[in-house]
Amino acid sequence: MIRVGGMTPLTTIDFPGRLSAVLFLQGCPWRCNYCHNPHLLPARAETHLEWTSVLAFLRRRQGLLDGVVFSGGEPTLQPSLLPAITQVRGLGYQIGLHTGGMYPARLRTLLPQLDWVGLDIKAPLHLYDSVTHGHGSGRKAALALRHVLDSGVAYECRTTWHPGLFPETELRRLADELAQAGVRHWALQACRVDGQPHPHRMTPPELPRLGKAFETFTFRRG
Ligand code: SF4
Repeated sequence: MIRVGGMTPLTTIDFPGRLSAVLFLQGCPWRCNYCHNPHLLPARAETHLEWTSVLAFLRRRQGLLDGVVFSGGEPTLQPSLLPAITQVRGLGYQIGLHTGGMYPARLRTLLPQLDWVGLDIKAPLHLYDSVTHGHGSGRKAALALRHVLDSGVAYECRTTWHPGLFPETELRRLADELAQAGVRHWALQACRVDGQPHPHRMTPPELPRLGKAFETFTFRRG
Protein backbone atom coordinates (compact mmCIF):
# COMPACT_ATOMS: atom_id res chain seq x y z
CA MET A 1 0.00 0.00 0.00
CA ILE A 2 1.35 3.40 -0.93
CA ARG A 3 2.34 5.59 2.01
CA VAL A 4 0.97 9.16 1.88
CA GLY A 5 2.44 11.69 4.30
CA GLY A 6 0.11 14.56 3.43
CA MET A 7 -2.28 16.06 0.92
CA THR A 8 -3.18 19.47 -0.48
CA PRO A 9 -6.82 19.15 -1.56
CA LEU A 10 -6.77 22.01 -4.10
CA THR A 11 -4.00 23.85 -5.92
CA THR A 12 -3.77 25.86 -9.10
CA ILE A 13 0.03 26.08 -9.26
CA ASP A 14 1.45 22.56 -8.97
CA PHE A 15 0.20 21.11 -12.29
CA PRO A 16 0.20 23.69 -15.09
CA GLY A 17 -3.26 24.54 -16.36
CA ARG A 18 -5.06 22.09 -14.07
CA LEU A 19 -7.00 22.31 -10.84
CA SER A 20 -5.34 19.60 -8.80
CA ALA A 21 -4.86 17.85 -5.54
CA VAL A 22 -1.30 17.09 -4.43
CA LEU A 23 -0.34 13.89 -2.63
CA PHE A 24 2.93 14.04 -0.67
CA LEU A 25 4.42 10.57 -0.54
CA GLN A 26 6.55 9.46 2.36
CA GLY A 27 10.30 8.92 2.02
CA CYS A 28 13.32 10.35 0.19
CA PRO A 29 16.88 8.98 0.06
CA TRP A 30 18.53 12.39 -0.44
CA ARG A 31 19.18 15.10 2.15
CA CYS A 32 19.22 18.51 0.46
CA ASN A 33 19.97 21.20 3.03
CA TYR A 34 17.07 23.37 1.84
CA CYS A 35 14.44 20.61 1.98
CA HIS A 36 11.11 22.11 3.06
CA ASN A 37 9.48 18.77 3.89
CA PRO A 38 11.87 17.11 6.37
CA HIS A 39 8.99 15.17 7.99
CA LEU A 40 8.53 13.37 4.66
CA LEU A 41 12.12 12.11 4.44
CA PRO A 42 12.06 8.95 6.62
CA ALA A 43 10.51 6.23 4.48
CA ARG A 44 9.18 4.31 7.49
CA ALA A 45 7.76 7.22 9.50
CA GLU A 46 4.22 6.82 10.73
CA THR A 47 1.61 8.22 8.34
CA HIS A 48 -2.00 9.07 9.16
CA LEU A 49 -3.58 9.25 5.72
CA GLU A 50 -4.85 5.89 4.50
CA TRP A 51 -4.85 5.25 0.76
CA THR A 52 -8.50 4.22 0.94
CA SER A 53 -9.32 7.66 2.42
CA VAL A 54 -7.40 9.38 -0.38
CA LEU A 55 -9.35 7.42 -3.00
CA ALA A 56 -12.63 8.25 -1.26
CA PHE A 57 -11.70 11.95 -1.33
CA LEU A 58 -10.82 11.75 -5.03
CA ARG A 59 -14.13 10.06 -5.83
CA ARG A 60 -15.95 12.95 -4.13
CA ARG A 61 -13.97 15.45 -6.22
CA GLN A 62 -14.60 13.79 -9.61
CA GLY A 63 -15.68 16.48 -12.06
CA LEU A 64 -14.35 19.25 -9.78
CA LEU A 65 -10.60 18.58 -10.09
CA ASP A 66 -8.67 17.95 -13.31
CA GLY A 67 -5.60 16.26 -11.96
CA VAL A 68 -3.64 14.70 -9.15
CA VAL A 69 0.03 15.39 -8.53
CA PHE A 70 2.20 12.78 -6.87
CA SER A 71 4.89 14.68 -4.96
CA GLY A 72 7.04 14.10 -1.92
CA GLY A 73 9.45 13.35 -0.41
CA GLU A 74 10.34 11.38 -3.48
CA PRO A 75 7.28 9.63 -4.94
CA THR A 76 9.26 7.20 -7.12
CA LEU A 77 10.81 5.69 -3.98
CA GLN A 78 7.70 3.57 -3.50
CA PRO A 79 7.27 0.55 -5.82
CA SER A 80 3.50 0.80 -5.35
CA LEU A 81 3.40 4.18 -7.11
CA LEU A 82 2.47 2.67 -10.47
CA PRO A 83 -0.63 0.81 -9.21
CA ALA A 84 -1.62 3.93 -7.25
CA ILE A 85 -1.36 6.05 -10.41
CA THR A 86 -3.36 3.46 -12.33
CA GLN A 87 -6.13 3.64 -9.73
CA VAL A 88 -6.23 7.45 -9.85
CA ARG A 89 -6.21 7.48 -13.65
CA GLY A 90 -9.13 5.06 -13.49
CA LEU A 91 -11.10 7.76 -11.69
CA GLY A 92 -10.60 10.04 -14.68
CA TYR A 93 -7.79 12.23 -13.36
CA GLN A 94 -4.77 13.50 -15.26
CA ILE A 95 -1.52 12.68 -13.51
CA GLY A 96 1.37 14.98 -12.62
CA LEU A 97 4.62 13.89 -10.96
CA HIS A 98 7.19 15.89 -9.01
CA THR A 99 10.47 13.99 -8.84
CA GLY A 100 14.18 14.41 -8.29
CA GLY A 101 14.83 11.56 -10.72
CA MET A 102 16.79 9.35 -8.30
CA TYR A 103 15.12 6.17 -9.59
CA PRO A 104 15.42 6.59 -13.36
CA ALA A 105 14.45 3.02 -14.29
CA ARG A 106 11.25 3.25 -12.26
CA LEU A 107 10.50 6.68 -13.67
CA ARG A 108 10.82 5.27 -17.17
CA THR A 109 8.10 2.69 -16.51
CA LEU A 110 5.83 5.42 -15.09
CA LEU A 111 6.16 7.88 -17.96
CA PRO A 112 3.47 6.33 -20.22
CA GLN A 113 0.97 6.95 -17.38
CA LEU A 114 1.92 10.60 -16.83
CA ASP A 115 0.55 13.81 -18.31
CA TRP A 116 3.23 16.12 -16.91
CA VAL A 117 6.51 15.88 -14.98
CA GLY A 118 8.19 18.50 -12.82
CA LEU A 119 11.80 17.26 -12.70
CA ASP A 120 14.14 18.81 -10.15
CA ILE A 121 17.61 19.47 -11.49
CA LYS A 122 19.65 20.35 -8.44
CA ALA A 123 23.03 21.47 -9.76
CA PRO A 124 25.56 21.12 -12.55
CA LEU A 125 26.62 17.51 -12.76
CA HIS A 126 29.94 17.83 -10.94
CA LEU A 127 28.31 19.53 -7.92
CA TYR A 128 25.25 17.33 -7.60
CA ASP A 129 26.24 15.24 -4.59
CA SER A 130 27.24 18.36 -2.65
CA VAL A 131 23.59 19.51 -2.82
CA THR A 132 21.79 16.17 -2.41
CA HIS A 133 24.25 14.41 -0.08
CA GLY A 134 23.46 11.33 -2.16
CA HIS A 135 26.09 9.21 -3.88
CA GLY A 136 26.07 9.32 -7.70
CA SER A 137 22.98 11.52 -7.61
CA GLY A 138 23.87 13.60 -10.70
CA ARG A 139 24.25 10.55 -12.91
CA LYS A 140 20.81 9.31 -11.80
CA ALA A 141 19.16 12.68 -12.41
CA ALA A 142 20.81 12.96 -15.84
CA LEU A 143 19.43 9.55 -16.80
CA ALA A 144 15.99 10.51 -15.53
CA LEU A 145 16.17 13.68 -17.61
CA ARG A 146 17.05 11.62 -20.68
CA HIS A 147 14.01 9.39 -20.11
CA VAL A 148 11.68 12.38 -19.67
CA LEU A 149 12.94 14.11 -22.81
CA ASP A 150 12.76 10.90 -24.87
CA SER A 151 9.23 10.15 -23.68
CA GLY A 152 7.61 13.26 -25.16
CA VAL A 153 5.65 13.79 -21.92
CA ALA A 154 5.14 17.48 -21.05
CA TYR A 155 7.64 18.61 -18.43
CA GLU A 156 9.35 21.41 -16.60
CA CYS A 157 12.89 21.18 -15.27
CA ARG A 158 13.22 23.22 -12.10
CA THR A 159 16.24 24.30 -10.10
CA THR A 160 16.15 25.70 -6.58
CA TRP A 161 19.09 28.00 -6.07
CA HIS A 162 20.77 30.49 -3.82
CA PRO A 163 24.42 31.57 -3.93
CA GLY A 164 25.28 29.56 -0.82
CA LEU A 165 24.61 26.38 -2.82
CA PHE A 166 26.86 27.28 -5.73
CA PRO A 167 27.86 30.54 -7.44
CA GLU A 168 26.29 32.18 -10.48
CA THR A 169 29.14 30.94 -12.66
CA GLU A 170 28.00 27.39 -11.89
CA LEU A 171 24.42 28.37 -12.62
CA ARG A 172 25.56 29.37 -16.10
CA ARG A 173 27.30 26.04 -16.41
CA LEU A 174 24.05 24.29 -15.43
CA ALA A 175 22.10 26.30 -18.04
CA ASP A 176 24.62 25.14 -20.66
CA GLU A 177 24.33 21.51 -19.55
CA LEU A 178 20.55 21.63 -19.73
CA ALA A 179 20.51 23.28 -23.14
CA GLN A 180 23.00 20.73 -24.48
CA ALA A 181 20.82 17.90 -23.15
CA GLY A 182 17.89 19.31 -25.16
CA VAL A 183 15.88 20.85 -22.32
CA ARG A 184 13.41 23.48 -23.60
CA HIS A 185 11.54 24.36 -20.39
CA TRP A 186 13.44 25.49 -17.30
CA ALA A 187 12.32 27.23 -14.12
CA LEU A 188 14.75 28.76 -11.66
CA GLN A 189 13.38 29.07 -8.14
CA ALA A 190 14.97 31.33 -5.55
CA CYS A 191 15.54 29.28 -2.43
CA ARG A 192 13.72 30.41 0.69
CA VAL A 193 15.78 30.61 3.86
CA ASP A 194 13.91 30.55 7.20
CA GLY A 195 10.66 31.07 5.29
CA GLN A 196 11.92 34.20 3.52
CA PRO A 197 13.25 34.68 0.00
CA HIS A 198 17.06 34.65 0.07
CA PRO A 199 18.29 38.29 0.20
CA HIS A 200 20.65 37.77 -2.72
CA ARG A 201 19.54 39.61 -5.85
CA MET A 202 20.70 38.19 -9.11
CA THR A 203 22.32 40.80 -11.32
CA PRO A 204 19.74 42.07 -13.84
CA PRO A 205 21.57 41.02 -17.02
CA GLU A 206 22.06 37.53 -15.65
CA LEU A 207 18.49 36.23 -15.86
CA PRO A 208 17.88 36.89 -19.57
CA ARG A 209 21.31 35.45 -20.30
CA LEU A 210 20.51 32.29 -18.34
CA GLY A 211 17.17 31.87 -20.07
CA LYS A 212 18.07 32.61 -23.64
CA ALA A 213 18.66 28.98 -24.67
CA PHE A 214 15.18 27.83 -23.57
CA GLU A 215 11.77 27.97 -25.16
CA THR A 216 10.28 28.83 -21.78
CA PHE A 217 12.29 30.17 -18.86
CA THR A 218 10.65 31.17 -15.59
CA PHE A 219 12.21 32.82 -12.55
CA ARG A 220 10.28 32.30 -9.31
CA ARG A 221 11.31 34.60 -6.50
CA GLY A 222 10.39 32.11 -3.78
S1 SF4 B 1 15.13 15.53 -3.07
FE1 SF4 B 1 13.40 16.86 -2.47
S2 SF4 B 1 12.38 15.77 -0.79
FE2 SF4 B 1 14.42 14.84 -1.04
S3 SF4 B 1 15.75 15.92 0.43
FE3 SF4 B 1 15.93 16.97 -1.56
S4 SF4 B 1 14.40 18.63 -1.48
FE4 SF4 B 1 13.87 17.16 0.17
